Amino acid sequence: MSAPLKIIPQVDVAGTGLTSQRVRDRLAERLRETGIKDEQVIHAIRTVPRHLFVDEVLASRAYEDTALPIGAGQTISQPWVVAKMTEAVMATQPKKVLEIGAGSGYQAAILAALNVEVHTVERIGELLRLARKRWRSLGLEIRSKHDDGRAGWKENGPFDAIMVTAGGQAVVPELIEQLKVGGVLVAPVGSASTQQLLCVTKNEEGTTQESLGQVVFVPLLSGLQD
Ligand code: SAH
Repeated sequence: MSAPLKIIPQVDVAGTGLTSQRVRDRLAERLRETGIKDEQVIHAIRTVPRHLFVDEVLASRAYEDTALPIGAGQTISQPWVVAKMTEAVMATQPKKVLEIGAGSGYQAAILAALNVEVHTVERIGELLRLARKRWRSLGLEIRSKHDDGRAGWKENGPFDAIMVTAGGQAVVPELIEQLKVGGVLVAPVGSASTQQLLCVTKNEEGTTQESLGQVVFVPLLSGLQD
């Protein structure tokens, strides 16, 4: 049995009923119906207030199983994709995880709620500032930096698992280097319009990989933006 979830304060958006267990239970049920099996992961998605990770005008849609815009042309992933990636990573019982593409900060918050030590890199400063505010308000301690995540975060590695939340044309070799043997890297790999969600396992000889399904992510880009 893994450690209990971190206590996440529940903040309501006045009058919207978004803290209501009912809308969240409905999402949890949908995740089960669509093949998510890890109840700890489902519990984390039920507990972390996704409505605080999107703009207030979109808050009423936060518990739908859909990606939503978060500004700067980026999106918060669909809950099913977050669940699928988190499930793949948690199956290896990681202590320390690196995420590339903090975005709204939601995926990192889900991992932190599962008591994982999270390190995350984001290339858009504006998004990272907002994400940090959200983590602070929820009492979550997440290590983050404003940088091009394709270089990973060498000083803080190696990591038990790595999660890339933007689509690239290939798996980035630097990230595999920062992964421990036995660890997994989950990343969408393919064209700009569609990618395979790859789960790459590192072993003594090299890597093996399987696809967890077809997904659509915003692109993994180079360089920094304010
Ligand atoms: N995990 C995020 C999803 C964000 S969308 C969430 O839970 O909300 C993908 C994010 O990856 C965007 O914020 C984008 O700016 C970021 N990104 C794209 N290329 C990157 C790179 N090379 N390094 C770091 N972040 C990158």
